[in-house]
Amino acid sequence: MQTEQTTSSAVYRRLLSYLKPYRLGFVAAIIGMVGYSAVDAGFIASVQPFIDRGIQEKDTEFLRLAPLVVILMFILRGIFHFTATYCISWVGNQIVKDMRQQLFSHMMRLPVSFHDKHSTGELISKITYDSEQIKQSLTKALIVLVRDGALVLGLIGVMFWYSWQLSLIFFLIAPVIAVIVSFVSKRFRKLSHKIQHAMGGVTTASEQMLNGHKVILAFGGQAVEDARFEEVNNQTRLQGVKMDATSAISSGVIQLIASFALAFVVFMASQPEMLDTLTAGIFSAIVTSMVMLLKPLKQLTTVNSEFQRGLAAAASIFRVMDEAAERETGTIELQQAKGDIEFKHVTFNYPGHQQQVLDDVSFHVPAGKTVALVGRSGSGKTTISSLLPRFYEVEQGEILVDGQNIQLYSRSSLRHQIAVVSQHVMLFNDSIANNICYGMAEPVSREQLLAVAEQAHVLEFAKKMPEGLDTQIGENGVSLSGGQRQRIAIARALLRQAPVLILDEATSALDTESERKIQAALDVLLKGRTSIVIAHRLSTIENADSIIVMDQGRILEQGTHAELLARDGVYASLHKLQFGSEK
Ligand code: ADP
Ligand code: MG
Repeated sequence: MQTEQTTSSAVYRRLLSYLKPYRLGFVAAIIGMVGYSAVDAGFIASVQPFIDRGIQEKDTEFLRLAPLVVILMFILRGIFHFTATYCISWVGNQIVKDMRQQLFSHMMRLPVSFHDKHSTGELISKITYDSEQIKQSLTKALIVLVRDGALVLGLIGVMFWYSWQLSLIFFLIAPVIAVIVSFVSKRFRKLSHKIQHAMGGVTTASEQMLNGHKVILAFGGQAVEDARFEEVNNQTRLQGVKMDATSAISSGVIQLIASFALAFVVFMASQPEMLDTLTAGIFSAIVTSMVMLLKPLKQLTTVNSEFQRGLAAAASIFRVMDEAAERETGTIELQQAKGDIEFKHVTFNYPGHQQQVLDDVSFHVPAGKTVALVGRSGSGKTTISSLLPRFYEVEQGEILVDGQNIQLYSRSSLRHQIAVVSQHVMLFNDSIANNICYGMAEPVSREQLLAVAEQAHVLEFAKKMPEGLDTQIGENGVSLSGGQRQRIAIARALLRQAPVLILDEATSALDTESERKIQAALDVLLKGRTSIVIAHRLSTIENADSIIVMDQGRILEQGTHAELLARDGVYASLHKLQFGSEK
């Protein structure tokens, strides 16, 4: 309870810091809102002179003034309204923009282990839905709070001005309303939290369906996916209805309480001693004020739901923002590594997982040499290739590049030395040329581009496309085959001229024909570089300087092709198996 309040006030204070740069617009909006309500309250206040002086005393002069006043008041009201709406929308959209940008760039910089833990859908929903929630609910809450709050104060002021005795009733009902509001707001907070969670589920399920569309069709998984989606979809509905029901009940109860107050005033006014002090105008002004009070009072109770929704959304965003970005321990800027790599007694498990993925792995790849990793899937080969660019930090044992622990190098400079071609090639929704040049610091000349495209056999298929290398390839390169994507990835790696190269089953998606072509491209790529090649087909790695056979995170055997064959161990039997099947 105590912590909930302190965290909610921390969230609130943090939100205010986003407001700071736009405080002028914010102040203008507040002035607009208060002005708007002041006009309304003034309008009610003018009921009394209108009746008592104009109608009771038949002051035609005064009554003739009234139409003019009415129009002037409404012009003023319109101006205030526009100012408030425009300014608050400006401020709100600026803040959402700032937050989204921050969230986007922070998510991008979070370690791989964070992304392992959170689904893409959940994170996308934070960028799109939660940030929009903050704007919508907080601006609405603010408008109600300030505008309707000012109107309530104005109307109560009018009532007290005319008859403080009749107005005292408000001090009796105010605490009751406060209790209800605080109860309701707690419930709202809980519900909003659930709604956001459910929305994350909706995006996750949708994303999964969209990404895996083909798999679903192929395996006939429609019913399973429908059921999965219905579950989360129903959750959002349920929470949404609960929230609206709470809102309806609370505002109903509050209005009922207010109607008691109104009844009390009418009853009091009927007492003879009270009646003496009242005029028709005063009575009308007070009753009109009380009736007018109902709507803003009702609004003021919904302000909590809005506010809590906004705070919950902000808290969900801040939680991601508070995740530590990749911790930078390295200070050495690696300019151009020689490429000597050594794993020393590396034992590793993925953060948050018990299973030991690497168990005391040690090997050495001298600069310029090629080492091949083979072994069953799940034996930890890809893990080795993820540790080298420091996607995960090693806590037991160490990895050395050029004789230094890689944790001493700055991450960006270390990653700059490494080019990875993996089995899953990620392509961006852009042209082939821009995909090849992705992430290059200096501009790439057309000759350079053509040279690598030629070497990687990209030109071969790009030439047949309508705009050659400038052809757009669609989201994640949907219009390309596996082999074509792989060749783009190889061109990308060639262009980087990184001294260290990791090929993680780079050719496993290919048929023998394309593989042979790519093998030629790979041979160019491997020349003069330290390479770690992970491959299924043993034929592709026979020429490696050293072959490491892995199983369940351990190194079983290590040696050249000839040595391992002579040894007649695991490698030799694997080789016999494949050699037989290829025949
Ligand atoms: P390989 O590339 O040899 O097929 P991996 O290195 O991908 O094997 O996986 C080794 C083991 O680590 C597997 O048991 C796998 O389940 C586990 N693993 C891989 N990636 C992760 C991850 N991001 N989080 C948790 N466990 C993982
Ligand atoms: Mg793998």
